[in-house]
Amino acid sequence: MFESIPAAPADPILGLADLYKSDLRPNKINLGIGVYKNETGHTPVMVSVKKAEQQLLETETSKNYLSIEGYTAYAQASQRLLFGAGNPILETQCLNTAQTPGGTGALRVAADFLAQHTTAKRIWVSNPSWPNHHNIFTASGLDVATYTYYQPETHTLDFTAMLNALESAEAGDVVLLHGCCHNPTGIDPTLEQWQQLSELMLRKSLLPLFDFAYQGLGQGLDDDAQGLRLFAQSHQEFIVCSSYSKNFGLYNERAGAFTLKTTTPQAGSAAFSQVKAVIRANYSNPPSHGASIVTTILHDDTLRAIWEQELLEVRQRIQRMRQLFVQTLQEKGAIQDFSFINKQNGMFSYSGLTKEQVTRLREEFAIYAVASGRINIAGMTPENMSRLCESIINVTR
Ligand code: PLP
Repeated sequence: MFESIPAAPADPILGLADLYKSDLRPNKINLGIGVYKNETGHTPVMVSVKKAEQQLLETETSKNYLSIEGYTAYAQASQRLLFGAGNPILETQCLNTAQTPGGTGALRVAADFLAQHTTAKRIWVSNPSWPNHHNIFTASGLDVATYTYYQPETHTLDFTAMLNALESAEAGDVVLLHGCCHNPTGIDPTLEQWQQLSELMLRKSLLPLFDFAYQGLGQGLDDDAQGLRLFAQSHQEFIVCSSYSKNFGLYNERAGAFTLKTTTPQAGSAAFSQVKAVIRANYSNPPSHGASIVTTILHDDTLRAIWEQELLEVRQRIQRMRQLFVQTLQEKGAIQDFSFINKQNGMFSYSGLTKEQVTRLREEFAIYAVASGRINIAGMTPENMSRLCESIINVTR
């Protein structure tokens, strides 16, 4: 049965990580996979996380299964983080949250739930987007359509094209929106643009699905949620898939959340019972450790303050590297103007490098970026900046 199975194509991002690992050149630079790295190129465990783990080690009394939807305290903390502590939406009883294995788990639950229990047949995903969006929604049986997002000449959001594409969506279609720090472009809508998108989607009865994987890595925990919170004021129904992989550095602990907003509490109970059925048939119930860490930190004022400070440092380091990158390229005589990189949000930038230039960077200079030209700013350090910029100037000449 297994003899004639052809090999699957390598994942464009994870495949790159394997190549990087096997590269023996000592001065290699990894701007590929979307993982935060500190000034020394290390992906650290946050101090707040270590402290929470110490508490858990002492207080945990059982490894019993969790319920299908996970911890209630985690769900509550997740909702407060998404919508802001005083938001009246938290009192409506129209929100239901399930703890999921990472943001990917939340997206897959959303995809299965939509495909199996709603009339949705099609989901609109930005072009470009995180490549796994296509895999997840196709695997659940939804048709994936794309809306234009990026204007390569100006390195900006092509908002008119985005609106035009969404005008051709049909009532009941789902639209996937990156809550902040759009992956891969780093370009987010302005508040006015969020408003226009919200109005268009209300008028056309399109269901918003927010993929919110980077809250706190752009402008701040609240600022990054402005689009979602604006939608939440007027949309009765929507879904949020959020992740703690990046903002808590809990990549391998798989902590995420699926949040369903319904028009009434009754509709919420029924629909969420189907979400739980979807989870039961998928991974049965979520893993505990990552979610326990997040819950411990978010419910403890001292730990939360430490975490927020650490997250601020992450954000500031990324912003510093953006500025240093643009400045060093200029100083070293880059012909192209890279100043647009300073206007982008979060870990990623669409650098404008072509596939050929990315290949040359890898082969000749041991610098790894995604073929699309996406670079992870967090892979930059003050030490590797000179060599990085000289190499980029070399291949773009
Ligand atoms: N959504 C986007 C846009 C992402 O970039 C990622 C991770 O890279 C995810 C979702 C998934 O996050 P997680 O690692 O929590 O599954």
